[in-house]
Amino acid sequence: MTLRTIDSLGPLAGKRVVVRCDLNVPLRDTVITDDGRVRASVPTLAALVAQGARVIVVSHLGRPDGAPDPRYSLAPVAARLGELLDAPVAFAADTVGADAASKVAALGDGEVLVLENLRFNPGETSKNEAERTAFAGELAEFADAVVSDGFGVVHRKQASVFELEQLRPSAAGLLIAAELDVLDRLTENPERPYTVVLGGSKVSDKLGVIAHLLPRVDALLVGGGMLFTFLAAQGHKVGSSLLEADQIETVQGYLTEAAERGVDIVLPSDVVVAASFSADAEHVVAPAEAIEQTPFGASGLGLDIGPETAAAFADRIRGSKTVFWNGPMGVFELAPFAAGTRVVAEALTQVDGLSVVGGGDSAAAVRQLGFEDAQFGHISTGGGASLEFLEGKKLPGLEVLGWQ
Ligand code: ADP
Ligand code: MG
Repeated sequence: MTLRTIDSLGPLAGKRVVVRCDLNVPLRDTVITDDGRVRASVPTLAALVAQGARVIVVSHLGRPDGAPDPRYSLAPVAARLGELLDAPVAFAADTVGADAASKVAALGDGEVLVLENLRFNPGETSKNEAERTAFAGELAEFADAVVSDGFGVVHRKQASVFELEQLRPSAAGLLIAAELDVLDRLTENPERPYTVVLGGSKVSDKLGVIAHLLPRVDALLVGGGMLFTFLAAQGHKVGSSLLEADQIETVQGYLTEAAERGVDIVLPSDVVVAASFSADAEHVVAPAEAIEQTPFGASGLGLDIGPETAAAFADRIRGSKTVFWNGPMGVFELAPFAAGTRVVAEALTQVDGLSVVGGGDSAAAVRQLGFEDAQFGHISTGGGASLEFLEGKKLPGLEVLGWQ
């Protein structure tokens, strides 16, 4: 790992350090419903405060349209950060405007300031490099040094992630270092048996990961909405379940490749089939090859893996030394279809080795089901970023920090 660390920036006491965090938390109205990303940002910020740096935090929140939008204000996040740091945290009502400039100028050693949402400025996510560079230049005015710690955005070529880091001495924060340390252990010499569990809604989102990991794993367990494309690839009917017909051939290719490599692709033996997509829908457990033989016929929807499958997956997971899990096993948001996800999550907490949860919905699922972060080896803060890393892609926000 050749990532530049904070130490490489030299002594930071009295220096203005702009820190790119990922504070993109889910909000209901202005209340944070999951503060995982704020908590994950604390170690780097606390370390900079302890050095006496003048800490200027920048982040995006949601997808405002390049203009101020009070629904996406970082003000509640700044307040939560103050609680977690147990110190006053100042907040600027703009990102690079007059309020930000005056609050940066007033910042004392060891103090923290959060600037308003980066994406209130069109330059942050502009497709035009000159526009991004111009906005990054305005941010750089506030910075003697830059620390990049927003792991969830390192796969994005955005002003605060890519251009800003080139305008000032820059380094990776502790969260990025920790995330990469874990992801590296999933790709370089993982302890065996190594099992990958994939679910979620779309197989097309995960094809790159399957292709890259297939030669590296011992077993691939398939659940979630994508399992139906696998069943269809084996010639089974799947009723009205989620199916990506245009991916069937690709999936058949993976099944063949796995057989040649001696990798087990483990598909469900039973599924929970529902009459409709709702929490109070009638539902039954059916063998995976007989989804259309339920009372709901061809209109039946597979919304979770069945109990026999969940138990078999749990056994494989518990018997592994390295497990990476991405994508819920069923529609966990609806209580009757959350059991498969719960059983798999529980098994991950029992792994004697490294267990990693990646993916925004997967992380939300384990917390919603009442598990604690500490029960897992690692819960990644970056869904898309961790998947792209595991696909073997080069990520611009890491390359700019010296990663190779
Ligand atoms: P992640 O964010 O962890 O990468 P995805 O975004 O790929 O996960 O998928 C999450 C979504 O997949 C959830 O909203 C869940 O309801 C849905 N899902 C899981 N199983 C099914 C299924 N059988 N049918 C339809 N949707 C499903
Ligand atoms: Mg998702």
